Amino acid sequence: VNWSSSDVRKRFIEYFVNENSHKFLRSSPLRPISDQTIPFVNAGMVQFKSVLQGKHLPPAPKVANSQKCARVGGKHNDLDAVGLDGYHHTFFEMLGSWSFGSCDKAEACKMAWKLLTGPFGLSPARLYVTYFGGDGQMGLPPDHETKDIWRQLGVQDSHILPFGTSDNFWEMGLVGPCGPCTEIHVDHVPDRTNAGARVNAGFSDLTELWNLVFIQFNRNKDGSLTPLKYSHVDTGMGFERLVALLNGVKSNYDTDLFTPLIQAIHKISGCDPYSHSFDENDSTFQKDKSYRILADHARLLTVAIADNVFPHLECKLRWVLRRALQISDNFMGKEGTGAPLLIELSSYVADSLHSVYPEIGKNLAKVERTISHEAEIYQAVRKEFPKNWVHLVKSKPELESLLVFGSNRSALSAAYRKMNSTNGLNSKVSPALAYHMYESHGMSAELIGEMAKISGKTFSVEDYEEEFEKRRQQSMLSTATKFVASSDSFVGLLDSGKVAKTNDLAKYDYSPYAD
Ligand code: ATP
Ligand code: MG
Ligand code: MG
Ligand code: MG
Repeated sequence: VNWSSSDVRKRFIEYFVNENSHKFLRSSPLRPISDQTIPFVNAGMVQFKSVLQGKHLPPAPKVANSQKCARVGGKHNDLDAVGLDGYHHTFFEMLGSWSFGSCDKAEACKMAWKLLTGPFGLSPARLYVTYFGGDGQMGLPPDHETKDIWRQLGVQDSHILPFGTSDNFWEMGLVGPCGPCTEIHVDHVPDRTNAGARVNAGFSDLTELWNLVFIQFNRNKDGSLTPLKYSHVDTGMGFERLVALLNGVKSNYDTDLFTPLIQAIHKISGCDPYSHSFDENDSTFQKDKSYRILADHARLLTVAIADNVFPHLECKLRWVLRRALQISDNFMGKEGTGAPLLIELSSYVADSLHSVYPEIGKNLAKVERTISHEAEIYQAVRKEFPKNWVHLVKSKPELESLLVFGSNRSALSAAYRKMNSTNGLNSKVSPALAYHMYESHGMSAELIGEMAKISGKTFSVEDYEEEFEKRRQQSMLSTATKFVASSDSFVGLLDSGKVAKTNDLAKYDYSPYAD
């Protein structure tokens, strides 16, 4: 059977909406509406944070959608994996289902299992499930309830595996809702009997597909957990991974979500065609990796700019844009000539996604203008730097590696001056100064390291990350404690009259699937 990506998405929504009484809610924009702690929505659950925290009523007791997600920063940063494996993207869609106010684990597992093995026709022999194996230090017992549920659904014991907190216990932040999760992983090698040891071990032949989170507890300020009176189910499945799986192809790049982009790169550039290599020793690997990265980045850029996330305001996005431009230049064979290729790709992205996310089609002209404007700036910077920057760097490639990290030239030079004035007599870039450079100039650790090197100073990434984590937790704690109400439920809040009666996201509800 051939599954087109739109059929897969549609089938998922139909299953939950028509056959299991969920309400369809459209994807929220890629830029979080009400959450300032993250630059991009990185999971379907983000738009429901306020519901989980008891600030808003849910839009319906059960909800399903496909959500535009990006993982290019913060806790979830998959940028480095992109191009190297076939299943981590900067931009991807998460198919989600929720049950608010009651956490019926058996029902959630059953719905997921029946969908995969029924309409999607996957063989149980290729599915592995994980559950929370407990954590003595945190005083959390194993989630045997979930283990039994999988058994009752007919999953073999050798396919039910326990994992610890990092894989199977979800927390929103330092305080607030949290709970165990159970995941479904897929063996891509048919007819293999016991591949359990490969689950969660980083193998590309056995990958995670669907995460089901049971939000049962509230983490209190003193670190203790109390059971929630009103608990929730929050599930998210990787859409591109599912499409690849259903079509029996080896990587997400071989699905109709990517092949038109890859073919367009080939056609426009005239370079050798994509040849699917993931093996670093192959002579075609570098070229194939470039195809993948460019196709991936074109998707993120198009979707993000269409949602009003602009490269000059979001340094990670500018980083991605400049990297995409460099790769486009390489395909076209000359510096500064890649923009038209990238712009052309954005229209392919719109073709592929606009029927589900109409804003992408509607805002395509803005995407094109922004890319071409940014390309001009980038080209100007590249042309100009030898004049103004020559005293800072030893070689052009070195400088290029600086500029591509996302800050603009004046921010860089300001940061450089700062590094040299406050640290004039010091041979070390202190973590506090590094944090300042991050906060005021949006500089990445790599960039700070590069600049330190040029200045003949040492810089410890570990110390910096420790400092970063400390500050991040401080700020998260203050944000989180502001939100967490004394009552443990939205129903309790509703009784007290303190909760908004409608979810302010309702106004974005314009689904192509809506009834
Ligand atoms: P992985 O372990 O593969 O990195 P994850 O545990 O980080 O995935 P979750 O946070 O549980 O992912 O997100 C739910 C689902 O979203 C995953 O099961 C996976 O199918 C999908 N997913 C996660 N990250 C990506 C990504 N970068 N690109 C494509 N799909 C992703
Ligand atoms: Mg991950
Ligand atoms: Mg995982
Ligand atoms: Mg996961």
